[in-house]
Amino acid sequence: MPTYHIWTVGCQMNISDSERLEAALQRVGYSPVDRAEEADFVVLNSCSVRESAEERITGKLGSLAHLKKSKPDTQIVLWGCMVGPDNQSIFKDKLPMVDHFVSPSAVDEVIARVPNPVYSFDEPVLPIADALHPPVSVHVPIIYGCNMSCAYCVIPLRRGRERSRPMAEILEECRRVVARGAKEITLLGQIVDAYGHDLPGRPDLADLVEAVHDTPGLVRLRFLTSHPAWMTQKLIDTVARLPKCMPEINLPIQAGHNEILKRMKRGYTVERYKDLIGRIRAAIPHVSMTTDIIVGHPGETDEHFKATLDLINEVRFGKVHIAAFSSRPGTTAADMELDEALAVPYWKKQLRRVELEKAQTAVVTEINQRLLGKTVEVLVESQAKGNWRGRTGQNQLVYFADDADWTGRLAHVAITRTGPWSLSGHLAGTAPKSVDQVVTQTRAADVIPLEVI
Ligand code: SF4
Repeated sequence: MPTYHIWTVGCQMNISDSERLEAALQRVGYSPVDRAEEADFVVLNSCSVRESAEERITGKLGSLAHLKKSKPDTQIVLWGCMVGPDNQSIFKDKLPMVDHFVSPSAVDEVIARVPNPVYSFDEPVLPIADALHPPVSVHVPIIYGCNMSCAYCVIPLRRGRERSRPMAEILEECRRVVARGAKEITLLGQIVDAYGHDLPGRPDLADLVEAVHDTPGLVRLRFLTSHPAWMTQKLIDTVARLPKCMPEINLPIQAGHNEILKRMKRGYTVERYKDLIGRIRAAIPHVSMTTDIIVGHPGETDEHFKATLDLINEVRFGKVHIAAFSSRPGTTAADMELDEALAVPYWKKQLRRVELEKAQTAVVTEINQRLLGKTVEVLVESQAKGNWRGRTGQNQLVYFADDADWTGRLAHVAITRTGPWSLSGHLAGTAPKSVDQVVTQTRAADVIPLEVI
């Protein structure tokens, strides 16, 4: 049987694209292997939001060049955000080991390049729905691309204009994936709350959430990433009203000072953002607000950074993805970075990142400590080193030990240990069992958020 290997870097959208590709490859008769050296078909799903992500991909391509020499029949595909409409011809000269360049999210275009498929596959739209054993928690893309032009962001150049998937197609995918065993769906988009403005009748995310919520067998529903400019009261009220909608909203602010937000071309002010948070918190009790922040954007002074630090301490987010500014060719911020008067030195960016991380760790440590001695409801996803691993409604990672199979079930866990990255405990109403401390100290997987960090 022919084999494939997929290597993925980047955000949830890339992870979701790779899951879909994986299901589609299995449908055409390919089997997964752990190492690229053993595969007939190798796909690198790339990310270009930061220079470091691109460096990882080019490093990997270097090792694949040797593979291509020793096994010239291996087909190598470079997929994802590194491949834009503007750079394919440049890459063709620079990366001779790559056989095919495919734009982000185009699963059917990757499948079209599979050599000698065992079975034909003419339904590329819903591959994840047909995976034999979908994970407990599945990501379903609902809108591709981005119409904004944030100064620092390369995504619109690579992923193109917004394209919403028809509602009926999304609902069918959700129905099929839940029928095969998934319990939680996360609706995905670069700006998820912009969903539907380009569709006939202009349905919005609230309409879609309402419809997906009715999927028989669905236990939990989330969506990400939201943009403050698109978040409506109707959406907030819908999440507040529907019991399967989890109390967690990811709302990137990116900076805590209006001058930097203006430079970033984000389209809102700190005041408007805080008003939005206030309305969300008033409507959705115990909601966990999460965000993304870039430090060291060109023009960021000590005073601007201090405003971001103050915001972290004031708003008390449940999670913050923090990144130092990384200049991306073709963006307006890349031009600003060339101006010495605006560029923030590398060491200062790193210092600010560390300072912000320290402040946020203190906030989240304190938030999680409040759960000590309480019982939380956990949707169990998998086993890790003998312990069960799941998430609360607010998306906190929880570990517990038990002999029964808890995959895909809701467990009530009495919390006996808290930390900034995870919690652990035992099934409520049962005698405590000790949980492997090595696992419980592990930081949650660091996935790059959909928005640029
Ligand atoms: S940061 Fe987000 S909203 Fe802004 S251009 Fe990039 S993807 Fe679009």
